[in-house]
Amino acid sequence: MRNYFILLVLVATTAWSQKGDAEQIKAIFDTSLSDAKGYDWLNHLSNQIGGRLSGSVQAEQAIEYTKEQLETLGLDRVWLQEVKVPKWVRGTPEFAYIETSPGFTNNVPITALGGSIATPAAGIKANVVEVQGIEDLEKLGRAKIEGKLVFFNKPMDPTLINTFAAYSGCVNQRYAGAKEAAAYGALGIIVRSMNLRLDDFPHTGAMSYGDQDLKERIPAAAISTNAAELLSTTLKLNPNILFYFKQNCRQLLDVTSYNVIGEIKGSTYPDQVILVGGHLDSWDLGDGSHDDGAGCVQSMEVLRLFKKTGYKPKKTIRVVLFMNEENGLRGGKVYAENALKSGENHLLALESDAGGFTPRGFSFDCSDKQFEQILSWKPLFEPYYIHLFEKGFSGPDIGPLKNNRTALAGLRPDSQRYFDHHHAENDTFEHVNKRELQLGAAAMASLVFLFDKHVTEAVAKPTGK
Ligand SMILES: [Zn+2]
Repeated sequence: MRNYFILLVLVATTAWSQKGDAEQIKAIFDTSLSDAKGYDWLNHLSNQIGGRLSGSVQAEQAIEYTKEQLETLGLDRVWLQEVKVPKWVRGTPEFAYIETSPGFTNNVPITALGGSIATPAAGIKANVVEVQGIEDLEKLGRAKIEGKLVFFNKPMDPTLINTFAAYSGCVNQRYAGAKEAAAYGALGIIVRSMNLRLDDFPHTGAMSYGDQDLKERIPAAAISTNAAELLSTTLKLNPNILFYFKQNCRQLLDVTSYNVIGEIKGSTYPDQVILVGGHLDSWDLGDGSHDDGAGCVQSMEVLRLFKKTGYKPKKTIRVVLFMNEENGLRGGKVYAENALKSGENHLLALESDAGGFTPRGFSFDCSDKQFEQILSWKPLFEPYYIHLFEKGFSGPDIGPLKNNRTALAGLRPDSQRYFDHHHAENDTFEHVNKRELQLGAAAMASLVFLFDKHVTEAVAKPTGK
């Protein structure tokens, strides 16, 4: 058996001039802002197709549409990669109310969480116990939870400037709350929407029962932040009030779907791949404009901007529109498995999945040596105010590609308004600003251009051992 070790060498081309780079980057930004296409693509995805839940007719339409559009760009290759995806359907709209005394009710906006089971056909009406997180369940114990609905009301922390950190701080109550509460005999769970604003939109999102037995599973739903405030206040006045909800969503068998892929073959190093991508699926309540139609069209724009500005990449530039990020990540997993099998060498994978808002910069999951070179490009982004370069999370769909040589990166737009829309009915096209969207596409194309021009890599050197 021979041993191999991976040797990674990043060499900054010494003779490069920042001036030439600055000119190409300016051409990219000028084209993106004056001759935009991404915004039109997003308009179609959002307003002609709509929410694109995995396995839905809309998801299939989005695959067809984006493939067709990529084919108009004169790429070297456009293809579909088969992915089996879970198919969860919402069924008829959910319904809920707070009952303060017999006959006195307040309806509240509610949505089933993705992956949840239905309530019994007649719904569930029960007393409510409020908690601030999963850790509270143990403190309360079975005696105070059994036969009730658990109301997870931990809000996102408003003091955190990075709203994704606030999201991470409480999303486990949505994701794992049902499984945990069922262990204490709860009948169902109600979660405060992951939203920093007080409004009437319930926000859905993935939840999981893990390996929990089918008959032990309980239904899970989210109510709007205003409804969460109302429920909490009402409970303080009278802990004996009842909450009613009804939903008839279900999980069907997996179906066949696809990642949509297109590429420009590299002129000098066709075997070295630079990937840009977003996820084509979305939740079904809105039209998935910010999450993640924006990331998809920005990624498509990267290739179009190269064509438009006449830049011929040395390495292969590939766009991947991943399927099923929201409730399974199957597209990202299948892509990475195939890349590994075929021995493809990914130099960079860049994802946009944080909304189509004003770009601030990028976060990088890469080696210190790679980051050192990336930091040297920061001045090139200063004219566009997109020069926040930090180490950190890249993107969900490219996560499975992680190894010790591929640099992973994520576009980092301003995050202040993202969770006003995330997974809710108001994630719609009119909330995306054309210039902000196109600036993000140009920033991505610029980073890809710099990687293409200046990063070289040697891999998989056999050792004599
Ligand atoms: Zn997303």
